[in-house]
This record gives sequence, C-alpha cells and structure tokens, in this order.
Amino acid sequence: MPIAGSQIVKMLPGRKPCRDCGFPTCFAFAMKLASGGTTVDKCPYLSEETKAKLLDILAPPIKLVTIGSEENAVKIGNEEVIYRHEKTFVHSPGIALLISDKEDKAKTEEKIKKIKELQFPWVGVNLKADLLAPYCESGDKAKFLALVKKVYDSTDLGMVLISEDMDALFAARDICVDRHPLIYPITKENIDEAIPKMKANLTPVGLRGESIEELVPLTTKLKDAGIEELVLDPGSKNLLEAIRDQTFIRKAALKQGFRPLGYPTIAFPCFMAKDGLKEMLVGSTFINKWAAIIVFSDFDQYSLLPLLVQRLNIYTDPRFPMAVEEKYYEVGEPDESSPVLVTSNWALTYFLVSSAVEATKVPAYVCVKDAEGLGVLTAWAAGKFSGDSVGTFIKKCGVADKVKHRKLVIPGKVARIKGELEDALNLEWEIIVGPKETTGIGAFLPGFAKQLKG
Ligand code: SF4
Repeated sequence: MPIAGSQIVKMLPGRKPCRDCGFPTCFAFAMKLASGGTTVDKCPYLSEETKAKLLDILAPPIKLVTIGSEENAVKIGNEEVIYRHEKTFVHSPGIALLISDKEDKAKTEEKIKKIKELQFPWVGVNLKADLLAPYCESGDKAKFLALVKKVYDSTDLGMVLISEDMDALFAARDICVDRHPLIYPITKENIDEAIPKMKANLTPVGLRGESIEELVPLTTKLKDAGIEELVLDPGSKNLLEAIRDQTFIRKAALKQGFRPLGYPTIAFPCFMAKDGLKEMLVGSTFINKWAAIIVFSDFDQYSLLPLLVQRLNIYTDPRFPMAVEEKYYEVGEPDESSPVLVTSNWALTYFLVSSAVEATKVPAYVCVKDAEGLGVLTAWAAGKFSGDSVGTFIKKCGVADKVKHRKLVIPGKVARIKGELEDALNLEWEIIVGPKETTGIGAFLPGFAKQLKG
C-alpha cells in the first residue's frame, strides 16, 4: 500500500536541513520519496536499518520479476491496480509454449519454428509469444536436458523450466542460466533442499502450493533466504478456482499490502483444459484475470493472434493513445530521390500511412512527428502539429541527409500549415499538399515519385 510522505518524514534523521539529498528539507525529500521521484540512497544519513525499512515500505506491492535476457527479457509484476480502468496495467503477461520431452523430434522442431515465425506486426508493434517451457514429462533426466539444450541452442527466448525432478531441474537451469530462466515447481516438499541450489545461481523461482495458504510460508522462507524473484502458482485445478485464487492474490497484494503474496502469478491452461479451443478460452480469461505467465500446450496463428490482440488491448495504457517513436521510417528501400512524407505519431495513423505507401510499392521516407499520440487533424487543433513544430522536427530528424531533393508532402487535412512550415524550413523545402485521406496515397504517390526521379 502506498505510504504518505508525512509517515516517511518521521523516519528521517531530521538534521537541520542539510540539503545533501538535493531537497530543501527532509519533508520535501520524504514527499518526493513517497511519490517515487527520488531514491532512498540520496540521504546519506540514514542508518542501514532505516534504509532497509524504507526500501521494504517503498517496494512495489507486486514484485517485478524478469525472465529471459536482453531484448527477449519478459518483465512481469510491478502492477499497481486491480482493474485496468483505475489507472493502467503495467507489464503484459508472458505467453509461453510448452514443449514436453515426450513429444517427438518433429513436434519439438515444429514448436520451435512456430514460436519464431508466428509474429504479427500490428499498428506499429510486433505481437508474438514470448517464452518456451521445456517440460520434463518423461521423468528421464537425460531426455529433459537434451530438450533444454535443443531449445537453448535454437532460440534466444527466455524459458520456463518445468520438472518435478530437482536434479533435472537444476541441471537444466545450469544449461541456460544466462537466459535467467524461471525454475518450476518449488514446493513445500523440496524447498529446503532447493534453497542452497537456488542461491548458487539466482534465477526466478516458480512456487507451487496446494492452496494460497500453502504459498505464504514458502514466499516468506525464500525472502528470508534472499531469493525474491518469485512467481506464484496457487495450484488451482479448474477455471473457477483459478479466478478465485488469482483475485485473492491480487487483492491481498494491492488492497491489503500483504507482502507474502506480492508476487506475479503463473497459470497453466495447458494442464487445465483437454481440447485446444477450451485451452485458449481459459488462457484468455487469465489475460484479463491477472496471470503474469500463461503456459499453452500449443497454438497456431488462428488461436494465438486473438490472444495477442486481447493482451495488447488490456495492457495498453488507457490514459494515452498508442503512439510510435518520433523519427523517419523507411518504407521499402528508399534512395536519395524517394518521396518524403510527414505525419503524426498516433499508431493507427502511422500504420495506415505506412501501409498505404507500402501498397504503392514506391519506396519512401515517412517522417513521424511526436504529437502525443494524436491523429493529424486533432494534433493540429491541439497545437501539436503546427508548421513551426513540424519544421523543427524535419530539421532535426535527419531526413534531409537522405534525399537530394527538397520536397516534403504534408497531409491534405492540414494544408493550412504550408506557409508557416515553409518559413520554419527557411524556404529550403517546397511543401506539397498531399491527399486528405490515406486512401488517396495510392493515386498520388506513384506519379509524385515519377516527378522526383524525372
Ligand atoms: S540529506 Fe537527509 S537529513 Fe539532509 S535534508 Fe535530506 S533527508 Fe534531511
């Protein structure tokens, strides 16, 4: 639960404002600390005990856990609200594909290929599944390790390692430890034996209990042992139990500030449903109802895409329109005679414009100006797509170094910025008023490109 600055200030040394933290008073520092605007270490006069206490109080109610590494790292947890409309959900759930060591070589290959290839560009983002989950179903350690090695060598993805055999689990962990895999399951039966092995090489740990109550002493024990990247499985047997358990854990962490349950959760539609359609429906419930890792036995493009779109919708910040980065984008392989167009950075606008340009097969530069995620006309009305600001962007984005002509196409709907934009660009660019709608790009662009070449 959030703590007020007035409570924090009581824990501070209260030296005559020494300002060593960069704030005029301890109270100002406390207020900033409470809102997340500074860090505990900025005050050099805190005792170790107070520091630890403050860090604990200020820690997010649901721990941030990272599975995988580098660009394939999947971050989960750190959530602040029960319902999306209260603010926003922060980290979308990782979608994992189970690969059993009982499956034959061809099936293993097929699944690895599938997770690599099933990627869907969607309004400026790339939708895809995130993790592979090698599963020791056979009970044969050698077979399981061979599978883990195969997955490790074939992809850069993060992994969820699943084995009831502890030896096999930790040997598998050691194969891919640099990928920061999640090891699962640690239970009340194996936890004492597992703690030294976990501490030898810290990676995220999946805890499984027969109930939520059973998880509490396990998380407490691991936290005391310094193992804090935990993921919870309350052992739900069916969808009804799962919704109840996920809700309970979420509310305990966020509403009650109950630290022992302040961790992200993992769910296994792959073990809860017998047929593919039901599995997907169960999985889609977990997207809405707070699971942070969702493991599927299999999927294809028809079942995966709806899940990915659902995930995107639920985990898009409702306070801000979807936006793409401000820069120039190359569509096709443009050269120094290719057209240059400018538009705003609402993701849908960018997607429509770049798709329309791509459809003409005319390579071009599409310059996307930051307009706080607004469409062109709204951005202009809000003063975020003025001739002046577009001119500043065109000068700094570097597109001028890419082309030898100086003709810039603006959206027809904001034809009125033409004069101001020409002035902003010191009359070095000729401003061409393009089509009012993206549907007009097909008719406009090929002829315009021809003029530029000619
Ligand atoms: S450095 Fe510490 S003691 Fe000094 S003003 Fe800041 S919070 Fe107070």
